[in-house]
Amino acid sequence: MSEAADAAGVAANLADIRRRIERAALEVGRPAGQVTLVAVSKTFGIGAVEAALAAGQTVFGENRVQEAQAKFPELRRRHPDLELHLIGPLQSNKTADAVALFDVIQSVDREKLARALAKEMARQGRRPRCFVQVNTGEEPQKAGITPAEAAAFVRLCRDELGLPVEGLMCIPPVDEAPAPHFGLLRRLAGDCGLTGLSMGMSADFEAAVQLGATHVRVGSAIFGRRSYP
Ligand SMILES: *Cc1c(COP(=O)(O)O)cnc(C)c1O
Repeated sequence: MSEAADAAGVAANLADIRRRIERAALEVGRPAGQVTLVAVSKTFGIGAVEAALAAGQTVFGENRVQEAQAKFPELRRRHPDLELHLIGPLQSNKTADAVALFDVIQSVDREKLARALAKEMARQGRRPRCFVQVNTGEEPQKAGITPAEAAAFVRLCRDELGLPVEGLMCIPPVDEAPAPHFGLLRRLAGDCGLTGLSMGMSADFEAAVQLGATHVRVGSAIFGRRSYP
């Protein structure tokens, strides 16, 4: 578990990020209310999430199903308006758990998973909104559909399988300027008639907002530096 900033620190960080989102949006003539801040709480404990909730944050992101299962069912009972996003890779054998727990699944990245999600949503009668993850940098080690395959994959997910696809998501290569990747994701979403754009993290969310992000995923700038076992 990572050591989180204290509650006052989390509240101050959240206020700062919200201000910066608003400023970035206004600079390009966007209303700030169009941008959803997803607070990425992976590796941080329930106390850190509680501190963010107390500061008015209701949307959270986790990258592992098991970790989210350990933290969020209890938080949800106390905070029914909490919204939980899966932002990390989803194995097909965890699909049932993911559909049961998450409100949004941002990492739909292959046909096998899309089919498993469609089947599971029909079985559970629960329909988490979906984002298709695009590997904009075409990095071999990274999840996501290639830009060239994105339109056909969105058609499969949305039109054939009936998944509630809301937008596209990307994680640009760490060693490249992110803006071209954000621009590419926006173009691809436009081609597919999708309005949701999940892009931008602690280091680059302002650039993402200026290029049209509807969802920014911010972790360390809110909760502090992560440590992994
Ligand atoms: C961890 C993570 C983030 C948040 O990263 P920070 O740099 O801490 O803001 C955003 N998106 C994904 C997919 C992540 O795994």
